[in-house]
Amino acid sequence: MAESFEVKVPDIGDFDSVDVVEVLVAAGDRVAKDDSLITLESDKASMEVPSPNAGTIESVHVAVGDKVGEGALIVRLVREEAPAKVEEKGEERAEKEVEKKAEAPVEVVAAARSAARIATEPARRLVVLGAGPGGYSAAFRAADLGLEVTLVDREPTLGGVCLNVGCIPSKALLHTARVIDEAEGFSAHGVSFQAPKIDLDKLRGWKQSVVDRLTGGLADLARKRKVTVVRGEGRLVSTHELEVARDGESQRIGFDAVILAAGSRPVVLPGLPAGDPRIMDSTGALELGDVPRRLLVIGGGIIGLEMATVYAALGSKVSVVELLEGLIPGCDRDLVRPLHKRLAARCENIWLSTRVTGIKARKNDLEVSFEGADAPARARFDRVLVAVGRRPNGDLVGAEAAGVRVDERGFLPVDDQQRTNISHIFAIGDLVPGPMLAHKASHEGRVAAEVAAGHKTGFDARVIPSVAYTDPEVAWVGLTETEAKAKSVAYGKGTFPWAASGRSLGLGRDEGLTKLLFEPTTGRLLGAGMVGPSAGDLVAEATLAIEMGSDAHDLGLTIHPHPTLSETIAMAAEAFSGTIVDLYLPKRKG
Ligand code: FAD
Repeated sequence: MAESFEVKVPDIGDFDSVDVVEVLVAAGDRVAKDDSLITLESDKASMEVPSPNAGTIESVHVAVGDKVGEGALIVRLVREEAPAKVEEKGEERAEKEVEKKAEAPVEVVAAARSAARIATEPARRLVVLGAGPGGYSAAFRAADLGLEVTLVDREPTLGGVCLNVGCIPSKALLHTARVIDEAEGFSAHGVSFQAPKIDLDKLRGWKQSVVDRLTGGLADLARKRKVTVVRGEGRLVSTHELEVARDGESQRIGFDAVILAAGSRPVVLPGLPAGDPRIMDSTGALELGDVPRRLLVIGGGIIGLEMATVYAALGSKVSVVELLEGLIPGCDRDLVRPLHKRLAARCENIWLSTRVTGIKARKNDLEVSFEGADAPARARFDRVLVAVGRRPNGDLVGAEAAGVRVDERGFLPVDDQQRTNISHIFAIGDLVPGPMLAHKASHEGRVAAEVAAGHKTGFDARVIPSVAYTDPEVAWVGLTETEAKAKSVAYGKGTFPWAASGRSLGLGRDEGLTKLLFEPTTGRLLGAGMVGPSAGDLVAEATLAIEMGSDAHDLGLTIHPHPTLSETIAMAAEAFSGTIVDLYLPKRKG
């Protein structure tokens, strides 16, 4: 018979002593995985603790009326051996993951099972502060779950940074840039177009029409769901009230639960000439006031490089300056290299390891001084875009009035149910730690809404993909090679160069690369990165594969349509497995 192991009370948030109100099993009972073992109840919430495995209860160590905290022993369980499976896919594989964790020390099991989540009294009145992708997703989900929802934003349109001055307008302009660049490149294929004539008013109008269509759609969705939209600057004034101010008037809105989704704002570099419209942030750059003859982009991260791509295509001579030694810090160098090469051919300068030490506003231009190996001491530009990062708006939501903790960087720390230290006050999106990305914000918004509605939901996505919509695009998800090396994580690698992809060559591009990182013994996908046109669309498959616990064979044996760029994922997996026929890898036969 298999050995028994201990099942303990998992992390239950801020409660260190809660009542056991039900014991649902006795010694000798057979339980299935996820069957409830006991019910715990505090003054705010009740939760059931599920069994991490199928098995037989050997002994029970709690009784009704006991008070328990995290780590208290509940039962000893004899785990049932899983029957051998011919084929493992999806959920079965994920279950195997949990089974594997169950073989790990008990503490690990408890951590893995922190999915035993708190279900609270559902809120009736929910206020959501901020109508970005996090806030509107939360508001709409909560309304669908029957809550009375008020959505507050200071801006006249819904959609936040993402729809109004972020993801959407930037991608509309990047598409324009791509078409301009592709048309120019076509002369090499025997098709020549005239140089583009840019009608800036029309281009601006088109970009705005895309934004308006989406934000108008959101207003419509809010109306249909009977979400009350209130315009104004909101601040918590107590644990159950938000004050909303506009045009010198204010109103207080009471709530049972509030979701703070106030987002972030651009970091401002200190010491720059104040109020000079020629020094822009990303919002200013997206306004397309003009196409400057010479543009300096400070910051070689995703936002800076996307805007550099747009302005270079529109005709500006663009220089990029980055403090660190490479573009897109945090992304693997082999993925950034093809982008750097193409950008270097389109930009006037890319200065790495270089600091901007000052900007002098002159009548006809801006004189920028630099400190760095390759940069000049001074150079002149017509406009400067500062894209050195964003900071959370945690200091602007009245957190102190409700006792909500804000960390030293301005983020609101939350648990995996998006609760702040005050359990009916949730926070999501750019306001909480983690990557500042719209898809993370909207995912968290749904979690917070469901928890506020009394559901036992939690954030347990394994990975969040990142994409730079530059040309070529760069996308990555999960473990990066840089991180694996830094943390000594064992991995095996499969790569497929797009120079061997018929589809990529047909697009006139051969610099792309798909790279997959696998757990060396199980072959499970740990991370993926790709660079090339539409890499951002490809990364979704790798993201799903990681979530599903897929291995190299799952990816290689899935029939991908030909000829597509998606085949590069299957082929990178085959390169790892040694089964690839589209490349010759003499050492990897098997
Ligand atoms: P936000 O979208 O910032 O929304 C917060 C809302 O809260 C705003 O509408 C604001 O007006 C409102 N608000 C704030 N404080 C108050 C207050 N006190 N009272 C009332 N209202 C308030 N992410 C991606 O995933 N993909 C991309 O391609 C991408 N491109 C980007 C391009 C640019 C140029 C920029 C700047 C960002 C980009 N991002 C991208 C990041 C993305 O926009 C953010 O991660 C996302 O918008 C965060 O969503 P959020 O709901 O947390 O907050």
